[in-house]
Formats: sequence, structure tokens, C-alpha cells
Amino acid sequence: MTSTLPTSVDPTAIQEVLDGRWAHVRRDARENLRDPDFLPVYGESMQDARDRVTRAARKLAESGRVGFGFPKEYGGEDDAGGSVSSIEMLAFGDLSLMVKAGVQWGLFGGALQLLGSRRQHEKYLRDVMSFDLPGCFAMTETGHGSDVQQLRTTCTYDPATQCFDLHTPHQAARKDYIGNAAKDGRMAVVFAQLISGGTNHGVHAWLVPIRNDDGTPCAGVTIGDAGPKAGLNGVDNGRLTFDHVQVPRDMLLDRYGQVAEDGTYTSSIENETRRFFTMLGTLVRGRVSVGGSAGSATKLALDIAARYGNVRRQFAAPGDDREIVINDYLVHQRKLLPALATTYALHFAQNELVETMHDVQTAVHVHGEEVDEHAQRELESRAAGLKVAQTWHATRTIQMAREACGGAGYLQENRLPHLKADTDVFTTFEGDNTVLLQLVAKGLLTGYRDTFGSLDGWGRIGFIADMVRETVLERTAARALIARLVDAVGRDDEAPVLDRGWQLKMFEFREKHALEGAIRRLRKNAGTEGMAPFDMFNDVQDHVLRTAETHIDRVVMEAFVAGVDRTTDPAARQLLDTLCDLYALSTIEADKGWFLEHGQLTATRAKLLTSTVNQLIKQLRPHIITLVDAFAIPAEWKAAQILEEEPDRQEVMAARDAEVRSEAEGSQASGESATALEVPPAQ
Ligand SMILES: Cc1cc2nc3c(=O)[nH]c(=O)nc-3n(C[C@H](O)[C@H](O)[C@H](O)COP(=O)(O)OP(=O)(O)OC[C@H]3O[C@@H](n4cnc5c(N)ncnc54)[C@H](O)[C@@H]3O)c2cc1C
Repeated sequence: MTSTLPTSVDPTAIQEVLDGRWAHVRRDARENLRDPDFLPVYGESMQDARDRVTRAARKLAESGRVGFGFPKEYGGEDDAGGSVSSIEMLAFGDLSLMVKAGVQWGLFGGALQLLGSRRQHEKYLRDVMSFDLPGCFAMTETGHGSDVQQLRTTCTYDPATQCFDLHTPHQAARKDYIGNAAKDGRMAVVFAQLISGGTNHGVHAWLVPIRNDDGTPCAGVTIGDAGPKAGLNGVDNGRLTFDHVQVPRDMLLDRYGQVAEDGTYTSSIENETRRFFTMLGTLVRGRVSVGGSAGSATKLALDIAARYGNVRRQFAAPGDDREIVINDYLVHQRKLLPALATTYALHFAQNELVETMHDVQTAVHVHGEEVDEHAQRELESRAAGLKVAQTWHATRTIQMAREACGGAGYLQENRLPHLKADTDVFTTFEGDNTVLLQLVAKGLLTGYRDTFGSLDGWGRIGFIADMVRETVLERTAARALIARLVDAVGRDDEAPVLDRGWQLKMFEFREKHALEGAIRRLRKNAGTEGMAPFDMFNDVQDHVLRTAETHIDRVVMEAFVAGVDRTTDPAARQLLDTLCDLYALSTIEADKGWFLEHGQLTATRAKLLTSTVNQLIKQLRPHIITLVDAFAIPAEWKAAQILEEEPDRQEVMAARDAEVRSEAEGSQASGESATALEVPPAQ
């Protein structure tokens, strides 16, 4: 393989493709989000961080950049995609602010908007947008996080008082980890079991005042502080307990379930489980935002590591007096470049997801169209899958970037410790990643016909085994293009590894094989007499999760291929095309044992794969900085001292090189060996 890449590629041509449909939102953020309060402050106390982030949230509200997702009639923009893009941009700043904003305008405001009635919108939405009414999204309890259908808080209607009685029956039912609760929240959207006329109608949500105007807790409400956390120091996570708090009937967010004065319960969705998951499904935006924000943090970490690696020098080649920049080491490139390729792939997949989410939500919430159940289920599954892929990729990549900067990466002043600590919990909140993978798998197995119900053992596994569909891979947005590429390679197992059709076929084969295997095993278990339903599922759980992971990989790969196809600038397209090869081949390489086991690679081709990855890396090495430049992260957002020092550092390095050279000349003249100039190993 010879290098065919142009020597220079304009990063703005790549940026244009990355910025996509909401480029105007990204541009506005880059130009105008310049307040120092929006950036992390190193060594700050928890109290100071909380105060700064509250101040920053208020400034953000005043700037008018929080209304994208809200209805136009209340001063919003009816632009769901814009709201996610705007959060993604905020995530280049202090992640505590991103999370605080996500709680206030995404979770609290979003629940009020999507689960509440027009009357409730009239009364509260403007104050939510202006941050005059800070609020919480109180779902998780100490005893139940992932399985929220089993929440223990009760809200019991009494026709005599026309009020609900909101109650925490025991400690495990206490609301826990709740953002905005410890310091700022005035109200909370509280999730609890709705009981009326002695019947439990399942989990619903109420708008509940938790603090008085003077900041003291409302009668019957106990507020606690979750205390110091591993990261997100500026977010005031807290605990809420309710002691028979009286909540007026009209505070029920009643879009999906209503209680009449006499206590009669009505809902357009009869099945309780179905109703609950429909309610949760409308809140998908939060999950999409967390995935996108993880992507931003990853880009920032890679930007810092790539730039540092380009000036940092360690060791000289034997016989050479000049020390080597660490980005020139193959193993360093092996760390940075595949991670960059995956970050690009995930970015394209995220853009596709945001567009789909925007279109689905606009149809229903702006144009008042009927909910397309299949599209909604598929969206939820895609959102869950990409949240998993992006947050785990962030966790791995930020750690790698930290190590890539050596000791400097461990100093707070270089940003990476904050990125690491703040994004860590992204794998847990907005849905634990392992649990979300099961949601993805369930959608795949049932063809999105039934993704409702607790994931605990999938209860009626026999039923699911009956309805698992014949495996047809649903296509992503690039359906026609992908099909053409895959068809072109046909049954040729010896097609060049750089053939895009062959690469796509490998991703497709792996997913199909995993899915078919999982279906076979589930069916077998369902037909095994005496096997408990829980065991039927649990026996296959690892296989089922792998199915989900291989599915996500394919979706991401296809999004990258479509992204390359949309790139018009020839040089940018060539660079992205090579990066896409790297994503494809490094993903296959990472799983080459499986491909060998399943006859998709011979030993010779497996070795060829590794050498091709190395060659791609060599080709891409000169473009590392272009690839991070294309993220277009404004210099002042990076808040990393090692980057501030970059010009100085280069000067120091140049001076040091000159010194080393003159010493070398002197020592050679005196007969000393050149190897004496080698830098001793680090202490
Ligand atoms: C900083 C922070 C902020 C938060 N903010 C909010 C907020 O504002 N509002 C809110 O309502 N909540 C919030 N949460 C709560 C968060 O959503 C939950 O922590 C999360 O849903 C996980 O629940 P859990 O902690 O009970 O973990 P669990 O559900 O107990 O999970 C523990 C482990 O069990 C595993 N597990 C669980 N079920 C299964 C299964 N079926 N199969 C295999 N493995 C399984 C999981 O993978 C995980 O490893 C926040 C949490 C944190 C840490």
C-alpha cells in the first residue's frame, strides 16, 4: 500500500461535514459561549463549584440558549435536534454545567413539557426556561435505579381532599442522587406508584414543590445532600423523602394517565407496562444528550493528547542526536489514531441519531401526528445503544489520553483529570450501560414489536422466544449505498481488506451470527422442560449482550460510510475514507479471534489485517493535528496548561536540540560514543 493521501487537508472542510444539520447552533456556541464561569476551575471546593455552576446556569438561561427544545409559544424554538447539539457544545466546557443544564432543561423541563398538560405548560414552562424555577427529576430511589418500574414511593389519591398523598414508605424508597436537589431545586418531577380507589396504576409523575421561597424544605419534605462525588463537583445531587405530602390533583403530569375528581383513572394506553415505557420513551432526549456529551469530552481529551504528543519528545534514535516526538512512535499512534477513528465514527452515528430523534419528535410534538410506534421503539433502541458505545468509548479514551500525556496528564491544570472524573458516571446515569444493552438486544430479538416490560429475566421468555423475528438486519440511513457496496463484494472471501464492501460484510456477518445464535439458544431454553424463566434468559445473557454490541458496531460503521459519502471536498473525503478504513479494520482486528474461529479470516489474512492497520496508521500520522483541528474546539475552551505552553515548549525544545547537537559535535570531536547522548529512562 502506498501513501495516497494529499499532503495537506483543510480541516474546515472536514469540520463542515462533522457540524452537519445543526452547524448554526455549533457556530453560535463557538463564537459566543465565552464566559469563564462555564469552564472548570481547578482545585475549587465543592461549595464554590456549586455556586459557580448555579451562576453559570443562570447566565446560560439569560443568554437564551436553553430554549431550543421548548415550544415556540413559550419562547422556545421547537427544535429538539438543536437542543441536543447545544448540550453537546456545552459539554466542551465544565461538565458540571452540562449536567446541571441537562437536569434543569432536559430532564425536569423535558418531563414537564412531554408528560404535562397545556395548563401546566402555561403555568410553569417560562419560569423553567429562565431558571427562576430550578427543578429536579426525581426518579431513582436508594433501592431501585435500573428497575424503575419497581419504585416504592406511593402517591395515593383521596377524592375527599382532591389531593394525592405522596409518601416514602421506607428508607429504600428515598429518592437518591437527584441533581439540583441538594441546593437549588424549588420543585421536582417526582415518580411514584399512582394508587386510586385501592388500585395501583403503575408509575406516574407529579410536579411537587420541595422548597419554599426562603429556601427551607416544604412541609413533609426532607432534603439531604449526596455529598462529595468522584466528579461533577458543581452539581448538587441530593436525597428527597416525603412524609405524607399533600399534592393537589392538578399536579399530576397527566398526558398518559388522568385521575378524575372522584378518583376514576383513565388512560389512552390500557396496558400498564406499555404506558410506563411509552412515558419513559418520550424522555429519550436525555440519553441522546449524554451520549453526545461523552463524544465532546472524548474529542477534547484527544485534542489535548494529540497536540501534546506532537511536541513532547522522549529518547533519541541510536546514532541520532535529535529526540523523537512521541507522536512518531508507532505504539503511540496505535493509541491515538484508532481512538480518533472511533470518535469520528461515533460522531457520524450521533448526528444520524439526532436527526432521527428530531424528525420523530417534531412529527408528534410539533405537528401533532400519531406516534409511529415502530419508529419510536427503534429510536429508543438506537439512543440506548449509542449512549452505551459513546460513554464506554469516552471512559477508555480519556484514560488513554491521560496516559498519553504522562505525568502532565495527571495534573488538574491539564484538564484530563476533570474529564476523566466527570464523564465516569456517564456509563451509569441515564441508564446503566449493561442494562441498556439488554434493551437494545430485546428490540433486535423482537423486531421492536415488544420492547416493553422489566428486563429482569425478561419474565415471559417463552413468549419472546416465540416472537423473535427471522433475522433481517434493518438498515441505517445509508441503506442503498451500503447494500450496493456489500452486494458488489458478493461471496468473495479473499476480497482486499481495504474493500469497503468486505469490511461492511464482516460487521454484518458478525451481527447476524450473534443474533441467530442468541435466538437459537433462547428457543432451545424455552423448549426445555422444567427450566425456570429466569434461567432461560440468564443462561444466554452474555450472548444477548454481545448481539447488541455487534449491532451497535455495525450501525456506527454504516454511519461513518455515509458520512464519507456526504463529504464533497476531495482531499477531506480521501482523509475520512482512510480513517474509515482504520475504524473498520481496527474493530475487526480487535475481534480477530472471533473472526478466525468463525472462518471469516484465515491466519494469513489476520496477519495482513494487522500490517494493514499499521500502514493506515503510518499514512494518517501526518494528519493527526488536522483531524483534531476539525473538531474546531476554541482554544480558550480547552483550559489545559500544556497547550497554553505549546509555543514556549517548542522554543524550549528547539533550544534543547541545538544544545544537544553542539554537545554531540563536541563529544564526537573528543572521541565519545554518540549513544552517550541517549536520554536516560524516566525516573
Ligand atoms: C452523579 C449522579 C447523578 C444522578 N442524577 C440523577 C437524577 O437527577 N435523577 C434520577 O432520577 N437519578 C439520577 N441518578 C441515578 C442513576 O440514574 C442511577 O444510579 C442509575 O440508573 C443506576 O441505578 P443504580 O445506581 O440503582 O444501580 P443498579 O441498577 O443497582 O446497578 C448496579 C449494577 O447492577 C447491574 N445490573 C442491574 N440490573 C441488571 C440486569 N438485569 N442484568 C445484569 N446486570 C444488572 C448494573 O449493570 C450495575 O453494574 C444519578 C446518579 C448519579 C451517580
